Amino acid sequence: MVKAEGVHKSFGAAHILRGIDLEVAPQEVFCLVGPSGSGKSTFLRCINHLEKINAGRLSVDGHLVGYRQKGDKLYELKDSEVAAQRRDIGMVFQRFNLFPHMTALANVMEAPIQVKGETKAVARARAERLLDRVGLSDKAGNYPSQLSGGQQQRVAIARALAMEPKLMLFDEPTSALDPELVGEVLDVMRGLAEEGMTMIVVTHEMGFAREVGDSLVFMDGGVVVEFGNPRDVLTNPQHDRTKAFLSKVL
Ligand code: ADP
Ligand code: MG
Repeated sequence: MVKAEGVHKSFGAAHILRGIDLEVAPQEVFCLVGPSGSGKSTFLRCINHLEKINAGRLSVDGHLVGYRQKGDKLYELKDSEVAAQRRDIGMVFQRFNLFPHMTALANVMEAPIQVKGETKAVARARAERLLDRVGLSDKAGNYPSQLSGGQQQRVAIARALAMEPKLMLFDEPTSALDPELVGEVLDVMRGLAEEGMTMIVVTHEMGFAREVGDSLVFMDGGVVVEFGNPRDVLTNPQHDRTKAFLSKVL
């Protein structure tokens, strides 16, 4: 579903991603961990067209991100083609980024209506179903300010799912939450995983990585330091940098 080969990304003179190689299979829960500043968010942003890579190849579902290849030449996609690629990718951020002037239901209905031209009736039926799935049927009429952080994040997940993505990216979805609200968000993510959603999850929740993750990558300094089954990497890390990091977060 995702393939990165020698992916590099710089911001000016700052060389952030220094040759990322990894593969995410369909239906896989792929956990990405590493110290702050190691490039995890940058990598997710490259997958989701929010940043352009400087070198290497990055593809989602067999299509190069942002480019079309003809022979050995690459052509940049038009904005409309980029938009079409992005529709298949849902992203959930640390900060929930809900539209503050819209109810939970309206937040979840918005993208399918605006982006896909869906009718309100169809969008509403799906939004109600999705709010039910994240356990928030009774909060459909609440505005974000009337919801807890955990509830807002669950609405944000429902909103991303409303576009029926093939791939979900989670960038530290529970890091901004009070500890007692983390579990309800992880439960929703666990449910998604059980239903077969392909997910890349940047997280410091090692319990989640161990129980739900199929693969775990430890990233540091813009490279993949260690990769494997989460149980193996977490209980028996091979590299000193991985050991040092895990000793701080476990
Ligand atoms: P992580 O998510 O692992 O904490 P990030 O991908 O957010 O790391 O950031 C990696 C590095 O890239 C940081 O040093 C950050 O300051 C830098 N960086 C990220 N985005 C930009 C940007 N738009 N312009 C300049 N530097 C950036
Ligand atoms: Mg980050």
